[in-house]
Amino acid sequence: MAASLANSPAAPTVLLIEAGAKDEDQSINKIMIANRFATWMTHPALNWGYKTVPQQNLAGRQIDYSRGRGVGGSSLINFSCWTVGPQGDYDEWARMVDDDSFDWKNIQRRLKALESFDLDSCPDYIRYAKAVADHHGTNGPVHIELPAVFERHMPALADAVEEFGLSTNLDTNSGNPIGLSMCPSTSRGAKRWTCTDAFLRDHPSNLTILPSTVASRVLFDAQRAVGIEANGKHYLASREVILSAGAIDTPKLLKLSGVGDKSELDTHNIKVVHHAPAVGRNLQDHAMAALVWEQNNHYNDRSLFESEEYMKTATDEFAKQGTGPLASYNCSQNIGYFKLPNIESIPEFQALSKDKQAHLQQPTVPHYEMLLGGPNYHPMMAKNLPYLSAMVFTAHSLSKGTVKLASADVNDPALCDPELLTHPYDKKVIIEATRTALQLVKTPSMASTIKEMTLGPKSDSDDDIWAHICNTTGTSWHMSCTCAMGKKGDENAVVDSEFKVIGLKGLRVVDMSVTPFLIAAHTQACAYLIGATAAEKMIAEYGFDRK
Ligand SMILES: Cc1cc2nc3c(=O)[nH]c(=O)nc-3n(C[C@H](O)[C@H](O)[C@H](O)COP(=O)(O)OP(=O)(O)OC[C@H]3O[C@@H](n4cnc5c(N)ncnc54)[C@H](O)[C@@H]3O)c2cc1C
Repeated sequence: MAASLANSPAAPTVLLIEAGAKDEDQSINKIMIANRFATWMTHPALNWGYKTVPQQNLAGRQIDYSRGRGVGGSSLINFSCWTVGPQGDYDEWARMVDDDSFDWKNIQRRLKALESFDLDSCPDYIRYAKAVADHHGTNGPVHIELPAVFERHMPALADAVEEFGLSTNLDTNSGNPIGLSMCPSTSRGAKRWTCTDAFLRDHPSNLTILPSTVASRVLFDAQRAVGIEANGKHYLASREVILSAGAIDTPKLLKLSGVGDKSELDTHNIKVVHHAPAVGRNLQDHAMAALVWEQNNHYNDRSLFESEEYMKTATDEFAKQGTGPLASYNCSQNIGYFKLPNIESIPEFQALSKDKQAHLQQPTVPHYEMLLGGPNYHPMMAKNLPYLSAMVFTAHSLSKGTVKLASADVNDPALCDPELLTHPYDKKVIIEATRTALQLVKTPSMASTIKEMTLGPKSDSDDDIWAHICNTTGTSWHMSCTCAMGKKGDENAVVDSEFKVIGLKGLRVVDMSVTPFLIAAHTQACAYLIGATAAEKMIAEYGFDRK
């Protein structure tokens, strides 16, 4: 959004304040997609390192709640999966906020403007993946590609999924993600392409980036936001203040500024500027259950990468030529979005509101997500053994949690309680989806490769599956909805469809906090689309499209 505003014909002055550093490290180990599932752990300086509060529903565990820290935000450490989400979700968003800017037609128009999709990146696998030109842009700032070389096990997994009776989808980003697809990544030549690469490296001089500067509160003149306090200094805005600190830190910053629930602000002796109880409520995230099997033959090449020597030789080749095993390892991650059969007959579905039921029954809207043959985070897994992993996610989480202040000190991380899997519908979906994954590995072509389960439930009974989920479930770091968008008068709404904080002047929120519900996708594309939508609206409102 900052880059779009600064690049508009009127060239307004934009100041971008970022707590973390401007990360210039382009070393091969950092940027190769082969390492994408580890960057959040191997580069702690780029990670706020948050944890949830103990999850009462999940054996009291505190779950990793990583967030990117640095110019470019979480795109510095995320897994680079590029999924926009279903048409049915964006049309529902537009309906809920009564604004067509969020419907699929307009979202797809902005998606095309963002994308520089390499449509020819995957010529040898068109049976499994084919980006349809009509659905994609090829001249935008965000580089997107499909893997040129699939890991050896990926085609076999896709075949097994079809054998099991689930469908293949050649293009997960057409507006209909249903089926097993090959996931595109934000990369070029299997090297990570971050938000900084896309928008902030060669920025115009009217955009000033202030890294290593922690915003501590919004400054107000009565009910109008007039600037930001950061590192003890005041930065005054001639037009507006925009908060884009993400779904954890934006509500925290609003509360530290006196915008939040009065009783919570009173507890921390913060002067109330605006009583807004919905700030920090409605925290939603995708819960993820993991399963791992040891395989009895070398169905995939994963175990080779456990050898330091092998990695060194492969890294040298990839650094010099962009080829070799690291041009495919972890580069081809499949992604499956599926519906539960006969959802109408499930009591947990029947108990939902009619609007929610109608939304979940839209043809493009999935109920769960499954990734197969991806990374294995399970520490019990002995090294150098061939393995198969499955990750199963809720596609929409109806469980709602909170972001609360730990204190009035900006340096204290907020208390994050996503209340994962507390909603009966979420619990039902993840149990059924996990059971599907257990059945899937019994298809003949898969079963012949499996030696034993190393991480999973004792049986496929509801109780055993739930016990496994309680002890192992994590999140997918898709924190959303903590400053939700809604119509005026909606008690859950913090911002209106112009991204303006309701009840205040000169203040917008533009990040993943604003989604009215968690979309069925990994969320970086949605974050970029939120930025693009807000920029479009502000450019029109201020006439920045004219010099
Ligand atoms: C480990 C991990 C893996 C992920 N994998 C994927 C994936 O593969 N695909 C996908 O689509 N999505 C993925 N995501 C999610 C995706 O990256 C996020 O949804 C998206 O980046 C959110 O964008 P945002 O602008 O809302 O917040 P962020 O990208 O988090 O940006 C917020 C920025 O605000 C800064 N900030 C916070 N507080 C302050 C303050 N007080 N002062 C100044 N600056 C501040 C932060 O340092 C950060 O730079 C992943 C996330 C993580 C953490």
